[in-house]
Amino acid sequence: MVKGAYKEFSEVAFPKKADVDKNYEKIIKTHLLNGNYAGIATHDDKIVDKIIQFTQKHYIPKNQFEFQMLYGIRSDSTKAISCTGI
Ligand SMILES: Cc1cc2nc3c(=O)[nH]c(=O)nc-3n(C[C@H](O)[C@H](O)[C@H](O)COP(=O)(O)OP(=O)(O)OC[C@H]3O[C@@H](n4cnc5c(N)ncnc54)[C@H](O)[C@@H]3O)c2cc1C
Repeated sequence: MVKGAYKEFSEVAFPKKADVDKNYEKIIKTHLLNGNYAGIATHDDKIVDKIIQFTQKHYIPKNQFEFQMLYGIRSDSTKAISCTGI
């Protein structure tokens, strides 16, 4: 699951970043609560932190999701997440 990289018309996408972020978080949480596996591909540290807290609160097992980042972007975050054992 990603936030699309391209600017789209408002008929098909949220034009404001705040709305994109809010909806992205919402669909990840819905997907997880319904028992689905989630590949969460983002470099957004705030969303990563919120999803980690959410999975802990709802006892979502670590093997039900993964974080994905493009190689070379936010390598600091990648290391930090790896250290949490997720
Ligand atoms: C594994 C993976 C595959 C993806 N595949 C697609 C795809 O097929 N189609 C598609 O439309 N989108 C794809 N994306 C999403 C896209 O690359 C951006 O990640 C997304 O549009 C920007 O949102 P963000 O979640 O990174 O958070 P944001 O809040 O937008 O960004 C968080 C931080 O990361 C930085 N950042 C984000 N993307 C990049 C980048 N590409 N280069 C440098 N810095 C960056 C931002 O500047 C900001 O500092 C993919 C992302 C990942 C991780």
